Amino acid sequence: MAVPEFSQALLAWYDEDSREMPWRGLTDPYAIWVSEIMLQQTRVETVRPYFLRWMSLFPDIKTLGLASERDVLHAWEGLGYYARARNILKTARMIHNEFAGKFPTNIEEIRRLPGIGTYTAAAIASIAFGADEATIDGNIRRVLARVKNIPEPLGSQEAEEKFRLVAGEILPKGKAGEFNQAMMDLGATICTPKQPKCETCPVQRFCLAFELGNQAERPVNPEKAVIPHFQVTAAVIQRQGRFLIAMRPSGGLLGGMWEFPGGKVEPGESDAEALVREIHEELGTVVKVGELVGSYKHAYTHFRVTLRAYRCRIIGNAPSTLEAKEMCWVSVEELADFPMGKIDRMISQTLLEGTGISNRTS
Ligand code: SF4
Repeated sequence: MAVPEFSQALLAWYDEDSREMPWRGLTDPYAIWVSEIMLQQTRVETVRPYFLRWMSLFPDIKTLGLASERDVLHAWEGLGYYARARNILKTARMIHNEFAGKFPTNIEEIRRLPGIGTYTAAAIASIAFGADEATIDGNIRRVLARVKNIPEPLGSQEAEEKFRLVAGEILPKGKAGEFNQAMMDLGATICTPKQPKCETCPVQRFCLAFELGNQAERPVNPEKAVIPHFQVTAAVIQRQGRFLIAMRPSGGLLGGMWEFPGGKVEPGESDAEALVREIHEELGTVVKVGELVGSYKHAYTHFRVTLRAYRCRIIGNAPSTLEAKEMCWVSVEELADFPMGKIDRMISQTLLEGTGISNRTS
C-alpha cells in the first residue's frame, strides 16, 4: 500500500464528506477533551445534545472546576459510565491547581490526567495541539484489520501490535488530527461492522479485505463471554409524603448517583429477604416489604439487570448511612433534582405519574 496515497485519498474524502459535529473544527483542548470523554462507548447522536448543554453550563475549565459533583453528575445523567463525569471534574480541578488552568500540551502529561487513556490522549494531542499521534479505537481497528487483512483476533497482543504499527505507518505527519478524525468517520459511516459500503469507500483500492472478499471475516472477534443477568430489588420508603433516597459510594458503578436503596438478590433469597438484608446493611434499619411498585430492565455493557421495586415500611430504628454516602427524604417533585441512573429515574417516573404497577425497559 502506498502510504501517502492512502492518506491523501482519505483526507480528500474527509474534506468533502466529514460529518458535522458541534466539536468539529474546534481547537480548544477543553472542548475536544469533553467531546472525546463523552464519545467513549457512546454514539455521536447521543453525545451531541449533551455536549451542547455541557458547554453552555460549563464553558471552560475554570467554571467546571468550581462546579459541584452533583451538578456535574446531573448534567451527565443519561450518558452512563458516570466515572467519566467524576473524572472530568477531578481533572478540571487538577488542571486548575497544577497547570495554572491551562490544558497540558504534552501527551505524557495528558495521559496522566484522571480518566484519560492512550486513545483519548492521542486524540486530544493530535486534534488540539497538532501532535503526530495516531488514535486507535474500535472503528479504527476495524478499518485497519480490513485494509491490512489482519487475521489475529481483536484484543490479542499480536493484533494490538499490528494496529499500532500500521496506524503509525499511515499517519501523515503534520495532519494527524484531521487524519484521525477521517479514520473515525470512515469506520463509523463507510467501513461499518455489517455490510461495509465498499463501493463508495475512498480507500477501496488499498484494501486487502476488499480484494480478497473477506470483509465480513475482518476483524476477527474474540469468543463472546456470556452476559450475566442480575436480579435486583429496591425499596420505595415513604414518610409524610417524602421518599428516602441514598447516594451510592463514590467509586464503582453509578458512584455518587442517587438511588432507591436496595441491592442484588442472592441465590436462594426471595426479593423480600434480599431487601430486608440490603436495607439493614446499607441503612442499619429493618423494613417490612409491601406491594410491588414496578419491574424495570436495563442492559449495561457487561451485564443486564432486572430490578423490582417494592413499597417498604420502616419497622426498626431510624435509618443511618452505613454503606450509603448520604441519604435524604425528598418529595416526588424533588426527585428530578438528584442525579440518578436509568433504572432509578424510571422508578421516580412511576412515582411521579402515580400509576399502578409499572413494567419498563430502558
Ligand atoms: Fe472497509 Fe470496504 Fe473500504 Fe475495505 S473497501 S476499508 S472493507 S469499506
